[in-house]
Amino acid sequence: MAQLLDGKAVAKVLKEEIQQEIAELKEQGVHPKLAVVLVGDDPASVVYAKSKQRMSEGLGMAFELFTLPSATQEEEVLTLIERLNQDAETHGIMVELPLPKHISKEKVMASVRPDKDVDGVHPINRGYILSGEEGLFPATPQSCIEIMLRSGVQISGKHVVIVGRGETVGKPLVFLILKHNATVTICHSKTPDLGYHTRQADILIAAVGRAKLVKMDMVKPGAIVVDAGINEIPGGICGDVDFDAVKEVAGMISPVPGGVGSLTTVLIMKNVLKGIALQRRYK
Ligand code: NAP
Repeated sequence: MAQLLDGKAVAKVLKEEIQQEIAELKEQGVHPKLAVVLVGDDPASVVYAKSKQRMSEGLGMAFELFTLPSATQEEEVLTLIERLNQDAETHGIMVELPLPKHISKEKVMASVRPDKDVDGVHPINRGYILSGEEGLFPATPQSCIEIMLRSGVQISGKHVVIVGRGETVGKPLVFLILKHNATVTICHSKTPDLGYHTRQADILIAAVGRAKLVKMDMVKPGAIVVDAGINEIPGGICGDVDFDAVKEVAGMISPVPGGVGSLTTVLIMKNVLKGIALQRRYK
């Protein structure tokens, strides 16, 4: 039976570290602050924004939520972001997605100052992932790595198979994992015989969005299985891995909920602190 990759336990340790860092910054006169921009009333975005507010405040980080009606013009959103870009008291900016259809997501993502872009969506940060330079990177792929490293998993030299090449998780993960010196295979919806590839994995990461896609016979005995998927099912959520079956063969496995997802908001907070370091560097 697999050992659990416990996202909640890792999150607790990370929160303590972040709290400590925030206290140290405050002693130096820096009061970390995250601004979240919410356009419209997409229910999931409202929940995510509130959860960031709770987490920021719990950690001692200042937080401001800018709620704009869904009819807001693109120009108005860009003006607000520019104001936050210039504001020395705001260290991180996050625009909740999706945006209303009349607003260009690409334009908005490119308007946030790269060193305040705590969601890691600015084209410059996407480029830094590829080049291996320091930047702000998306929280979910970072969570996949953090949950392993903090549970004593050695990534270097391993064969990591990632299922999913989405812009949010799979694609950025390839380059973050490469930085840890793994050999990487990436699979997607056009990959024939998915199981052939997943069975080669020392570390298998699922970031697909298909409930319980990864079955027991697709996993090498003893493999480490990280599930980034979040799928709504009657009565709750489940991952992309058939957890109950796969835990019988895997060496380690992350549950859903309680795995990767438990770390994402914490890692956005960590990005605010990394942003402060980057902002100081370029001052
Ligand atoms: P996405 O952009 O929709 O990408 C999904 C990927 O899965 C695509 O590359 C797609 O292939 C591939 N795929 C779909 N069906 C497949 C199949 N049957 N076999 C193999 N590959 C298949 O999704 P995403 O935004 O990257 O998110 C991935 C998952 O992570 C979702 O479950 C999402 O809810 C979850 N997520 C979790 C968090 C968190 O905090 N834990 C945050 C964000 C997202 P093609 O490229 O060929 O279409």
